[in-house]
Amino acid sequence: MQKTQKRADPKKVVKPVRVGKGNGCSHYKKCGGCHLQNMTYEEQLQYKQVKCINLLKNFGRVKEIIGMQDPMHYRCKVQAAFGRDKTGIISGVYQSSTHKIVPIDSCLIEDKQADEIIVTIRKLLKSFKLKPFDENSMTGFLRHVLVRKGYYTGQVMVVLVTGTPVFPSSRSFINALLQRHPEITTIVQNINNKFTSLVLGEKNITLYGEGYIEDTIFDCTFRISPRSFYQVNPVMTTVLYGKAIEYMELKGTETVIDTYCGTGTIGIIASKNAGRVIGVELNADAVRDAKFNAKRNDIDNIEFYTADASDFMVEMAKSGEKADVVIMDPPRSGSDERFMSSVVTLAPERVVYVSCNPETLARDLRYFTRNGYKVRRIQPVDMFPHTNHVETVALLVRAVSAI
Ligand code: SAH
Repeated sequence: MQKTQKRADPKKVVKPVRVGKGNGCSHYKKCGGCHLQNMTYEEQLQYKQVKCINLLKNFGRVKEIIGMQDPMHYRCKVQAAFGRDKTGIISGVYQSSTHKIVPIDSCLIEDKQADEIIVTIRKLLKSFKLKPFDENSMTGFLRHVLVRKGYYTGQVMVVLVTGTPVFPSSRSFINALLQRHPEITTIVQNINNKFTSLVLGEKNITLYGEGYIEDTIFDCTFRISPRSFYQVNPVMTTVLYGKAIEYMELKGTETVIDTYCGTGTIGIIASKNAGRVIGVELNADAVRDAKFNAKRNDIDNIEFYTADASDFMVEMAKSGEKADVVIMDPPRSGSDERFMSSVVTLAPERVVYVSCNPETLARDLRYFTRNGYKVRRIQPVDMFPHTNHVETVALLVRAVSAI
């Protein structure tokens, strides 16, 4: 461990692309999705380790980052924009900060099957004489395709995002797609006829199958609908959640508050070893999925609330509620003082902070450590190989119990 911390030096690890070694992606420069493709995977891990050490070392020892054994093709959620250039219909990703499509047939971090399905759809468009959507004239048919795969269940959902509800020859199109990809378990048409950068519109029409897929994490099953939030790297989600659960040190009687809970995944997994779990999340759709997921897993010691996490915690603190463990998994902007001061008032023994941004994590840890908490563990996890994102799980314990 100590060895890794000494060895990692960002100045030494940034190297130019090495064709045939490294990761060698031909779209690297135009796409802009993978910021660290110019490094080998080992170098990327060292780079992220150093970043975490630099930001977090004042709070304690940063454990060695947990990387992926196979860091390629890990994304189980793949999205492609459709358009046209002089060669004909193209599909791919938007060049960063633009709406210019970089044509991509296969990506080193995306699920291979998902990429193949997207290429098939592009070819079918031509044979069915369906047009890609044109954002300028707001005419045409197919805007985006979203493919989600249940890593452990193998279920595959295809979402065809269209600019109009009219889908000419939809039956034959679906049959042709299923014939080429029998692994597809559901196909949904999502209608997005607005002038917007958002991929998905409000309305879904199930064209084949159930309209959702399921996947499992540990022994819990979760429903993934077209609009549900669900982590994109299932292998590392298990690692990340596993650390969060380990740090909670649950014995079976605790009251746990899962804040910024999304579709309730962490809280539902934790509920099996807790007395009571309370989940809070701002997005009402996610809360609806969370409630469904709790039922799906026969869990009756969990309740979910749609609220701003800070407002909710202020109310909890005012009403004199007690909690043994608080889990927090805020967005990149981190949390705020209203939230954290309410946590301090609630005085849980342990706070487990799951962070997707070490900079805001450092800021928030400073608040906690100045207000009665000690940082006991800092564990970086590489959820997004080849990008510059890094997740970290930190364990804070109440200072009186930290002695
Ligand atoms: N813990 C979940 C989700 C983490 S993503 C998981 O692992 O899947 C962060 C979540 O915080 C998102 O679902 C987002 O909708 C939610 N969120 C963002 N701001 C919030 C706020 N002010 N109050 C409550 N939830 C918020």
